[in-house]
Amino acid sequence: MLLPDSRVYVAGHTGLAGSAICRRLEAEGHRNLLLRTHTEVELTDEGAVERFFDAEKPSHVILAAAKVGGIAANAAFPAEFLSVNLRIAANVIESAWRHGAEKLLYLASSCIYPRVTPQPIREEALLTGALEPTNEAYAIAKIAGLKLCQAYRRQHGFDAIVAMPTNLYGPHDRFDLEAGHVLPSLLRRFHEAKEAGAPEVIVWGSGSPRRDFLHADDLGTACLTLLRDYSDEMPVNIGSGDDILIRDLAFLVAEITGYRGAITFDPSRPDGTPEKRLDITRISGLGWRPAIDLRSGIEQTYRWYRENCARET
Ligand code: GDP
Repeated sequence: MLLPDSRVYVAGHTGLAGSAICRRLEAEGHRNLLLRTHTEVELTDEGAVERFFDAEKPSHVILAAAKVGGIAANAAFPAEFLSVNLRIAANVIESAWRHGAEKLLYLASSCIYPRVTPQPIREEALLTGALEPTNEAYAIAKIAGLKLCQAYRRQHGFDAIVAMPTNLYGPHDRFDLEAGHVLPSLLRRFHEAKEAGAPEVIVWGSGSPRRDFLHADDLGTACLTLLRDYSDEMPVNIGSGDDILIRDLAFLVAEITGYRGAITFDPSRPDGTPEKRLDITRISGLGWRPAIDLRSGIEQTYRWYRENCARET
């Protein structure tokens, strides 16, 4: 059972998802968080992971560590996306089970669903069709992690559960113009264009894909709900219940950042999956609802970006 003094290891605590989960745990009175940086415990190193679990014996493990990136980074570095994420999942899940963790929550991703599938996407759609080629390497690694959770549950009775977060955004994201996901990249691009008085901002692709965006703090509450109230091999979608066209997202980010120049779409850049909106019936049944609407979530993220990352020009 998850108690305030449970020894909770959050792998990936500096990232977008992991930092939000830590904020939620701390807000709910958890004082025994086990946190290690990359240099302290390299998760691709089997021996290092094994030594950490042997020494610390966490009771609960949240696996939010992963090599992640936007559509361009996925296309450029498939070897790392596949190999690093496979090794992280294999090492952490094995050591957590071996050292007697009570429960493990693995964060998969909505990109592991088939490229074309009925919307909103139900958990049962997993492995019913071909993947989106632009993020196939990452998706295969995440599917393997999910299957490891199911296999350790079946073979060893290990209480490993799987969450399928949609496209996340919020503080501590990577606001990188090339490697980032769409929302942090656009926030930075529009911000810098406004500051520089640039006449035009380029947005990748046709603008017609649809995406389902969830603030990372809503992911945090969802993860705690699952840790407390869910114990089954079926993965659980975590999404906003809604979606938006990338074109409309670009206009919204322009408005929030105060950019008033032209917006041009660049169809030479890939669109990726045409649409991916998650069906959230399963987690709604546990009483969870997202609390942060897209506009106020982006406004809050933009404030965070300006205070923490932006070089005001
Ligand atoms: P995806 O959901 O895995 O495709 O992740 P992304 O966040 O990388 O991209 C979402 C959508 O936004 C895709 O259709 C991209 O083509 C589009 N997009 C538009 N501008 C950008 C940008 O500057 N960066 C990224 N990463 N995507 C962009």
